[in-house]
Amino acid sequence: MNIIFLGAPGAGKGTQAELIAKKYNIPTISTGNIIREALKSGTEMGFKAKAFIEAGQLVPDEVVIGIIKERLAKGDCENGFILDGFPRTIPQAKALDVMGVRIDKVVDIEVPDENIKARMTGRRVCGTCGASYHLEFKKPAQNGICDSCGAELIQRKDDAPETVADRLSVYHKQTEPLKKYYEEHGKLEIVDGLGDVAEITAHIEKALED
Ligand code: AMP
Repeated sequence: MNIIFLGAPGAGKGTQAELIAKKYNIPTISTGNIIREALKSGTEMGFKAKAFIEAGQLVPDEVVIGIIKERLAKGDCENGFILDGFPRTIPQAKALDVMGVRIDKVVDIEVPDENIKARMTGRRVCGTCGASYHLEFKKPAQNGICDSCGAELIQRKDDAPETVADRLSVYHKQTEPLKKYYEEHGKLEIVDGLGDVAEITAHIEKALED
């Protein structure tokens, strides 16, 4: 099954994508993670993307479309995949159509802006292994230290309050129109993203089976 996860940044797409991907035994493809890896390893693409990410803006379409093209060509996508964070603009969605990529379902995880702000500004990540925590909802055993590898926890620059506001505004302007796009294609499934992680996963599973 070829699935797209839509939703505002911080709506829980990443967590849910991982859980559903495990169930279907398909890979999750997160353009955000691919770009952050490129940034860490200092590639030219990472360098180009840096200023956009840190300002809470989208990386130009041609860059992310190139990333997706390359990733979808890999063998592990043959039995399906979950796209987490792509497409984020109408031209990106149209690029998938032009590539001939069949999409079976688009799951939109809905969370109000106020909840998104609280989730994102409290998020802390491990600078070494990438594990994710939250000051309120998912505290590490020891304050500021990663449970998995013992490294220091940091706030992603794009999780700072001013940047979160910018990212939400970018989401409403550029990404939200994709809901209508996929609704018109008869693919959209809307899921309430508030509440228990397991409960949300169950709703997504049901939406995918319908
Ligand atoms: P994420 O972790 O998915 O929120 O992505 C982090 C950042 O990477 C975003 O704020 C964008 O700057 C960039 N990014 C990720 N995916 C895309 C995309 N499909 N189009 C444009 N920019 C993207």
